[in-house]
Amino acid sequence: MTKFTDLGLAETILRALSDEGYETPTPIQARVVPAMRAGHDIVGIAQTGTGKTASFVLPLLQTIQEHKRRPAATACHALVLAPTRELAAQIEENIQIYSKFLQLRSAVVVGGAKPGPQVRQMAKGVDILVATPGRLEDHIASGAIRIDQTSTVVLDEADQMLDLGFMPAIRRILAKLPKKRQTVLMSATMPSQIRKLAGDFLRDPKEISVAPQSKPIDRIDQSVIHVAQSEKRDRLVSYLQSQTIERAVVFTRTKHGANRVAQVLDRAGIAAGAIHGNKSQSQRIKTLDAFKKGTAPVLVATDIAARGIDVDGVSHVINFDLPEVAEVYVHRIGRTARAGASGTAVSLVDESQRGLLREIEKLTKMSLPSLDGSTPDLPEVEPEKPGRNRRSQNSKRPQRRRRHGDKPARDGAKAAGQEQRSQAKKPQAKKPRKQEQSEVTTPKPNNSNRRRKNRSGAKQASGGNTAGLNRMLGNIDRSSQKKTKRRSA
Ligand code: AMP
Repeated sequence: MTKFTDLGLAETILRALSDEGYETPTPIQARVVPAMRAGHDIVGIAQTGTGKTASFVLPLLQTIQEHKRRPAATACHALVLAPTRELAAQIEENIQIYSKFLQLRSAVVVGGAKPGPQVRQMAKGVDILVATPGRLEDHIASGAIRIDQTSTVVLDEADQMLDLGFMPAIRRILAKLPKKRQTVLMSATMPSQIRKLAGDFLRDPKEISVAPQSKPIDRIDQSVIHVAQSEKRDRLVSYLQSQTIERAVVFTRTKHGANRVAQVLDRAGIAAGAIHGNKSQSQRIKTLDAFKKGTAPVLVATDIAARGIDVDGVSHVINFDLPEVAEVYVHRIGRTARAGASGTAVSLVDESQRGLLREIEKLTKMSLPSLDGSTPDLPEVEPEKPGRNRRSQNSKRPQRRRRHGDKPARDGAKAAGQEQRSQAKKPQAKKPRKQEQSEVTTPKPNNSNRRRKNRSGAKQASGGNTAGLNRMLGNIDRSSQKKTKRRSA
């Protein structure tokens, strides 16, 4: 088995890893670190949870520490592009952790934060710049940063960038980088556009793919509570009060819903914070910090805001609203039962969501038991007619997912905002509540229209298996690895 000491990393880096409780490299680290050190371009197929961040950060740090070359004013040696502010912040946090015994400058530039402090941080030049594409382009245009001396670029979660409409920006940015450079592309999936991007911009890349170690879905105790829509908030409060919660993530469909649920919980004496696309960067950081520290152990979030948040010790995932697409359910519940722990996932299901529940049960090939033994005291949903679009059973819900061809967004949060604007222009089915608009939901396995999504759900339900679901959960089971909490936790 590869050891960190086999990877040619400096003692200062090894010490930081050891302080962090890392004992052995994960499979992606064992393969990407040497390949990057050898100067190869890389296509890495790996999901969050596999240790992919350290796999590209460690060789960047090693190179920087070997060269001891200060970056020129407003230039950066290495550039890491990420689809969302949260992921960018997390990458930067990892850089800080692994480089704590090194002398280097890093900065994170993302939308939703004031540009001034970012400009000042970049003025003297930085070793590693972590950025979302839209804000980076703004800074390039204003001359706050130049990338003509950048020798390594990493595109993290390239498939998410594609989903969020960043491909044109990525191509423009790559075209501005020096021809002689190292390019690393990380993606959980490899849709054809990502393959094409790699073909156009990478030189003879090494393809490194790691199957995430499965996290048994049976370690997650799943159940549902059948409840009328009007009683959901009270039921959520009573459920949370009945449980020993280490940390809980409550998923809502809309941003307004997230705010309201957080308020209700707070009023009931349950410390909670809401996180979604309308929150400012500083509010998000504060809320996430309180969640990590456990001072506000309940985080109410929309899918897009929760994407990329990596916090261990989530004991409960609660679906206040079921997701529109069954696969998203699997991603949501994968927030719990991390790092070898077990977890609980509970879904509050009202009468309008019974069709969605059936789709989830088909996909997971399990019937989700009712927590309190209650059966829904509700009329049966009209059976589906053969050949009819399965969406029809929920036809009162508006079409919410972004379609290909919608205007590309400049960053994750703007993507959500633009989604709302573009949806406003489209003919829509009647909305259940006129003031509510949901954030973009971008499930991984299939990102075309809903009709295809439903077909894929049906296919997985009939032909899939638990291993496939575990793959979707995609988080490394590090039960054998002693991992201390992050400094920030
Ligand atoms: P990532 O896939 O980069 O998001 O990493 C997922 C989690 O695994 C993070 O909490 C990291 O701190 C942790 N991690 C990464 N590499 C290792 C390792 N070699 N040993 C233990 N934990 C790790």
